[in-house]
Amino acid sequence: MQPSTHLIHSIPVDPLTGAISVPIYQTSTFVQDAPGINKGYDYARSNNPTRATLENLIAQLENGSTGVAFGSGLAAIDAVLKLLQSGDEVVAVDDIYGGAYRLFEQVYKKFGITVKYVDTSNVENVFNAVTPKTKLIWIETPTNPTLKISDIKTIAKIAKANSCLLCVDNTFASPALQKPLSLGADIVVHSATKYLGGHSDLIAGLVVTKEKELGDKIKFYQNACGAILAPFDSWLLIRGIETLHLRIKQHCSSAQAIAEFLENCPQVDKVYYPGLKSHPNHNIAKEQSKGFGGIVSFTLKNDAEAVATAFATSTELFKLAESLGGIKSLLSHPASMTHKTIPAETRRAAGVSDSLIRLSVGLEDAEDLINDLQNAFKKLHHNEVETASSVLN
Ligand SMILES: *Cc1c(COP(=O)(O)O)cnc(C)c1O
Repeated sequence: MQPSTHLIHSIPVDPLTGAISVPIYQTSTFVQDAPGINKGYDYARSNNPTRATLENLIAQLENGSTGVAFGSGLAAIDAVLKLLQSGDEVVAVDDIYGGAYRLFEQVYKKFGITVKYVDTSNVENVFNAVTPKTKLIWIETPTNPTLKISDIKTIAKIAKANSCLLCVDNTFASPALQKPLSLGADIVVHSATKYLGGHSDLIAGLVVTKEKELGDKIKFYQNACGAILAPFDSWLLIRGIETLHLRIKQHCSSAQAIAEFLENCPQVDKVYYPGLKSHPNHNIAKEQSKGFGGIVSFTLKNDAEAVATAFATSTELFKLAESLGGIKSLLSHPASMTHKTIPAETRRAAGVSDSLIRLSVGLEDAEDLINDLQNAFKKLHHNEVETASSVLN
């Protein structure tokens, strides 16, 4: 059976009523037959049938044993970090999601957990950074916004040889394209706010573990710390996941077309997309994932920040906003938005130049999206000609 068929039918029909859509159990507590005797549910922070359906679904989808749902991607990441103890070290990808960086540096550092940031797209850097104190390797692949790819299988071997865990933030690829647990990772986290939800209408996070024992620990933190996903949002996320394969297929094919269009644009300097042969990690991306995703980044030949911000406000279909993975195409300018708090030199060294634009390619027709970009480039060109002639006058 193909994964898309399996996914749709792995969501059970309600055994009580035959409802084909998962019921939303909007309840805080469950009546017990006798003290401690219940139907498997006692209090909705600990467990809820709608959330349990979602958790089983994501566990299946990621080929893991246990899925655990949280109120945001960061709450999911936070639950994984709670596995650590004071004195432990982490090796993390250098262009890590900004919120994860903040969590490491401004929350966990004061509890004695230290993080070494390295470019994990070169596995040698990971090998050299690991010490006997390293308990966790943290990667994102592809990364944001320069779409660097790390070799999950090889890094998993390094983790195993050093008795530490490998956690992959699989938000950008989604399980429709890449299954890190099958490549040797121990834990997968998601900002389900992005592709899994898919409609820019909720905030949610998921953790999936390969082993049940580790999953039980994460479930313990879910209940003990309480950052659960609500029943309605669990239902909404299930509904999003039902169309994941179909959506991702379209995101990938449109993103590929847009990346190729951008490569041939005279005003564009670099294009970052793992599906392009020019991408330095194209081969490993091809090997470990079924497709290259819906995010495309590019820089302009004119590297003035003002030119990039002019472009960012010139598109009509691509809406200027943070976040990604929804049906509507979005565009962002990391230097002045998501990466603004990073010192300019550090940011530029990580490849996020002043003119870098990130596209989240949505589900509109690819030709319309290309026309939208083309029109924005024309406006940019027109403005440059006008500026040049006013200088001459
Ligand atoms: C958005 C994002 C997060 C954080 O998720 P929230 O749902 O916003 O809390 C974590 N990792 C990556 C890669 C993201 O894009």
